[in-house]
Amino acid sequence: MSVSRICPNCYRREGIRVNFGNNHSAEKEFHQQHWCDCGYSSPEEMMKDQDLGFSDAKWVLIIKDFLNTYYNIISTTVIPNKDEHLRLFLKLLKNKINWYDSSAELIPKKRNFNEFEYVRNGKPKKQPKLNIFDDNGLEDVPNQVTITKTNYNLDEVQLLIEYAKAWNNLNVSYLENILSDNFEYNSQWVFDTMYGKETYIDYLKGKFKRIKETNAFPQAEIGYYKNAYGVKNKPCIVIKQNDTKVSIIMKINNGKITNIDMVGFPDPNTAITFDYFPK
Ligand SMILES: [Zn+2]
Repeated sequence: MSVSRICPNCYRREGIRVNFGNNHSAEKEFHQQHWCDCGYSSPEEMMKDQDLGFSDAKWVLIIKDFLNTYYNIISTTVIPNKDEHLRLFLKLLKNKINWYDSSAELIPKKRNFNEFEYVRNGKPKKQPKLNIFDDNGLEDVPNQVTITKTNYNLDEVQLLIEYAKAWNNLNVSYLENILSDNFEYNSQWVFDTMYGKETYIDYLKGKFKRIKETNAFPQAEIGYYKNAYGVKNKPCIVIKQNDTKVSIIMKINNGKITNIDMVGFPDPNTAITFDYFPK
């Protein structure tokens, strides 16, 4: 197993890994060498110089670990809504604090208005001696994370637009993140309700495949009914294929589609459309 060194005063990780095999005394000596050029003689001195807002140096270890895992998760996983994001953030923070044999709790205290500092960026009041969060210490942190693309909570029209894209591109991948797990599909031409997100996606995949073979490409246009299902100005999609027109109406919950109804009544020809075919 190869090992790398972490400075006991600034917690920087050395950029090289060394393999000692079974030579434990050499490994022990390796860790005792003073390799870091930070110049700090204690973690307390480092914390003072860095102006991190905390005095306990353990926070640096905890937050470095937290940031690595956090950015790794949010740059590789789709977190579909802010509830889940909040839950992930809090649970991960607790997990990391506990991992370092510590706990954090909010203790009531008297208000001291001098403590309310302006917080928008992380600039220190005076320049620290060195950068303790260099590349080796935060290996999983990407240069930029775009949260809006992966963490959305869409409203009904935004969801309709995404759904229409699936039809206009004959590609079910647009649906992966917008259908709820307990999704239901109904068609006025079919008696049975179809249950489940995966079942529906498989069904549409087959349907799109057959459409591609026939070259009768559908066009999905955004619009609305003045009145449908007892709702005024109900958003819809009008799908036109050859000479037939059907409408798509949906129900949503928590930013996901829970129900899709494919309908011929109300008449799709009475829907008001915008000549907008999302691609
Ligand atoms: Zn150091």
